[in-house]
Amino acid sequence: MSVLVLLETTDNQIKKSSLEALAFAKHVAGNLGGKVSAVLAGNPSNLSEAALFGADLILQISDPRFSQADARAFAESLLQAAGETQSKTVVLAKSALTDSFAALLAAMWKAGAATNVVSLPDFSNGFVVKRSIFTGKAFEFVKLTAERKVISIKKNAAEAVPNAGAGEIKAFSPQVSAKAFALQTISTEKATGEVLLPDAEIVVSGGRGLKGPENWNLITDMAKVLGAATGCSKPVSDLHWRPHHEHVGQTGIKVSPNLYFAIGISGAIQHVAGISSSKVIVAINKDPEAPIFKVANYGIVGDAFSVVPQLTEALKNI
Ligand SMILES: Cc1cc2nc3c(=O)[nH]c(=O)nc-3n(C[C@H](O)[C@H](O)[C@H](O)COP(=O)(O)OP(=O)(O)OC[C@H]3O[C@@H](n4cnc5c(N)ncnc54)[C@H](O)[C@@H]3O)c2cc1C
Repeated sequence: MSVLVLLETTDNQIKKSSLEALAFAKHVAGNLGGKVSAVLAGNPSNLSEAALFGADLILQISDPRFSQADARAFAESLLQAAGETQSKTVVLAKSALTDSFAALLAAMWKAGAATNVVSLPDFSNGFVVKRSIFTGKAFEFVKLTAERKVISIKKNAAEAVPNAGAGEIKAFSPQVSAKAFALQTISTEKATGEVLLPDAEIVVSGGRGLKGPENWNLITDMAKVLGAATGCSKPVSDLHWRPHHEHVGQTGIKVSPNLYFAIGISGAIQHVAGISSSKVIVAINKDPEAPIFKVANYGIVGDAFSVVPQLTEALKNI
């Protein structure tokens, strides 16, 4: 029996979120018994990391049509891979691609599905996962009772740590009908920026407390020192102080960094919805009653105009 993982690539590298999916699968396999198998399209330069992070078997697809994010083709292929590896659980890292086919795969496979899973499952009373609901404003615990399971995990649900598997690589040519390839990418436009917000490990985000766009060097200077992406609250982008693609929250980007700085951000529920799966939240706000302190792991009550430059200077010396 296996736990099956889809490994996605970007810029010819296996994505970090896919390595987290391997860690998640390894945890499941460790508790329920079995191996970790992976499906991968292409030949990424860090292929060896699949084994390093836990894959016992890697089914490698060389068909170039799989470079398209085509839901049906991936669902059909994973179904076949699950049969070949005798898998009962499929683990997917949440992404534009997996969002498009997770439910389809579950329906085709007659499996129970849990999406937006935020932490490792609890096996003390069945197979229970914690998932984020209401666009990130709440969590629920669900027990998966079906024998077959499709689980889509959010960033940070599991920590990608080296935990080597056998790493056998096998060519895999799924029999997928030509009709399943119904998408053709015409062009791709990447968001610009030194560090892209959805993938960032660290995010430095500013709110209306920064008073105006002329003060944004406080945010960008600190982000530069940390190698972080910059974000903002909705009013900040509505006021055109910052571009819309930096807007974090329920109606903007949902981030899951290891470290999120909320500077001059009140912590309205719609903002928190976009940051609730961050590992550590640090808030800097001059109002000790600001709601952001309820969700922050660390808080500094103080004036951002004095605290942030001091913090940036201190960080330069680390
Ligand atoms: C349907 C809907 C969807 C929404 N979606 C989103 C969303 O996706 N993302 C989002 O962010 N918002 C969203 N909002 C808006 C949200 O409700 C809040 O209005 C918004 O998040 C507040 O932004 P803010 O914290 O930057 O500003 P404010 O609420 O004005 O807070 C500014 C904060 O800065 C602090 N401050 C002021 N001066 C300083 C200083 N010198 N130093 C330190 N701190 C200081 C203040 O104490 C205050 O806490 C949505 C609202 C609705 C109704």
